[in-house]
Amino acid sequence: MATLVFLHAHPDDEATSTGGTMALAHDLGHRVVWICCTDGSQGTRTGDADESVSQVRRREARASAEILGVDRLVFLEHQDSGMHGWASNNDPEAFMNVDPQVVGADVAGILDEEDADVLVGYDWHGNYGHPDHIMVHKVMNAAADQAARRPRVLQATMNRDAMRDGYDPELGGIDPDAPGDDGNPFGTPESELAWKVNVNETVMRKRAALAAHESQEDAKQLLAIPDEFFALGFRHEYFIEEGRGPMVEAWPFD
Ligand SMILES: [Zn+2]
Repeated sequence: MATLVFLHAHPDDEATSTGGTMALAHDLGHRVVWICCTDGSQGTRTGDADESVSQVRRREARASAEILGVDRLVFLEHQDSGMHGWASNNDPEAFMNVDPQVVGADVAGILDEEDADVLVGYDWHGNYGHPDHIMVHKVMNAAADQAARRPRVLQATMNRDAMRDGYDPELGGIDPDAPGDDGNPFGTPESELAWKVNVNETVMRKRAALAAHESQEDAKQLLAIPDEFFALGFRHEYFIEEGRGPMVEAWPFD
């Protein structure tokens, strides 16, 4: 059995991007570690004044971890940078402005404690250009370089070609060729992918994990999708692994 460490930017990214793979890994007996880099403090603020946004999000993340079968959840508590162009980007403490080598050393420490076999992060532009997601890519590389035993590195991404096939301008949704937060199109062309993971078995747990982030507007929008369409849209998760390809539909962690 392997130890898999998933590096995510905000609470709820684990659900939308790799939730199915995390739950499947748990079911297959692997150890699943989730490192949440930011406090999610730029997320949707709800009415309850007794809890800060980051407290709410930590609570929701724990509930999600429970659903996905996460063995260890680590909060790095960096300050959420917000979307590209927000005033919060200018804060020197924002995650996007920290030194990726320094955070990479912290993550490498966890990789060493866990003697991790695999580190999962994001592609070079963070799938859709969110500055904190781009930082996750940099931290992923810095951590893998600094780990005592270099883990396999997988980059979670979206399949731009599959997204295009599923996109109907009449129905709305995301046009993968339109510029994302940083001006780049969404995800990665299929020709650059290594793994297509079928998470049909766990896709409803992925949905439940997303529902744990009930304070968040983005989550609510996705949860408005009827179950059967959610299952169709979210039953595949895609990963880049350097040196591997063309893409195969298989379980990457045997
Ligand atoms: Zn995020």
